[in-house]
Amino acid sequence: MLTMDTYDFSGKKALVRVDLNVPQDANGKVTDDTRARAIIPTVNKILKDGGSVILMSHLGRPKGKVNPAMSLKPIAEHLSGLLGKPVLFATDCVGADAKAKAAALKPGEVLVLENLRFHPEEEAGDEAFSKSLSELGDVYVNDAFGTAHRAHASTTIVAKFFPSAKLFGYLMQAEIDSVGKVLGHPQRPMTAIVGGSKVSSKIDVLRNLINSCDELIIGGGMANTFVRAMGGQTGASLVEEDLLDMARTIIEEAKAKGVQLHIPTDAVVADAFSETANTDEAAADAVPDGWMALDIGPKSVESFRAAVLRSKTLLWNGPMGVFEMKPFQRGTVAIAEAVAEATSKGAFSLVGGGDSVAAVNQFGLADKISYVSTGGGAMLEYLEGKVLPGIAAIKG
Ligand code: AMP
Repeated sequence: MLTMDTYDFSGKKALVRVDLNVPQDANGKVTDDTRARAIIPTVNKILKDGGSVILMSHLGRPKGKVNPAMSLKPIAEHLSGLLGKPVLFATDCVGADAKAKAAALKPGEVLVLENLRFHPEEEAGDEAFSKSLSELGDVYVNDAFGTAHRAHASTTIVAKFFPSAKLFGYLMQAEIDSVGKVLGHPQRPMTAIVGGSKVSSKIDVLRNLINSCDELIIGGGMANTFVRAMGGQTGASLVEEDLLDMARTIIEEAKAKGVQLHIPTDAVVADAFSETANTDEAAADAVPDGWMALDIGPKSVESFRAAVLRSKTLLWNGPMGVFEMKPFQRGTVAIAEAVAEATSKGAFSLVGGGDSVAAVNQFGLADKISYVSTGGGAMLEYLEGKVLPGIAAIKG
């Protein structure tokens, strides 16, 4: 397989799928350019080699129609500032303008194509559209981990037109390497921390992780379903009644595979789902009627923290409580701090696939984590053990 470091882009036009789907304000101004910054190493390596770069991305959900509010033009201008050089722009991702501008591109130049999703063929994975895209470049680089779980034209199908010139960009490679360190051959003990609101969205993640972790910590709203499945009183907490059997199955599977399962023993409870609710502490299996568990309690924090600190590999997906509201933040902050502390002592930590990424950013701890994933849905599917089409297309 080709890699960014070993491939020589000299004289080549690199067609690079990136994720420039950045948040903007009402005037189109970029409000968070994390994703744009994340592609800079890949762009700079190609330029340094003496190649040129053709960037393609989606922005928002234009649903296959041209929508000027979702044009990539302002993003291309922002990128120009980040790169410190002019960036050319094609008013469509295929057709005469794109062809002419790609053909005229000289080594050291960067061209951004208009929003791929202005064409319904992008999300449909249309072959002819993919071929048109492929004709713009000599080599295909996929650096868009956030869309790697979609078999779209630019993320997957286009790769078949570059049978011997396709590779992962640096960002994509870093995501793949990080998951490999956790699910491949992790340093043991390996502990997975899974939280968030619902069991229903994490069933496959839990069942897959049970195959590779030594300890499994369950927190957040989904823990209530486990507490109830074990016969606890959960009051007005979020519980998925239809998944009680599934929760019991997961408990059994963990036992059968020798995985130490941690479920909260106590909780911060509230009499309403509100920042101004009355709050108290309660045993996780004795939540009073009308009250709901919105964070893990201090005893759970202590035992979860101890498990985190004895681990050599950590994977964290999903908050321990309703961390968006101050009174229910403590559990998530404590786990974030424990993961950071374990990392400072040599553990490898990956945070990804959900709101735990927002949490570590909000608490200013992201730089104390070994790797914070950029891809929400893509990371979740990866952790479920699924083959991501965007990854398979490069490897295949
Ligand atoms: P997810 O997107 O599934 O990772 O869930 C993240 C959401 O779960 C966050 O918005 C949290 O506010 C929410 N959450 C965490 N703990 C609880 C809880 N105990 N009850 C209800 N919602 C929760």
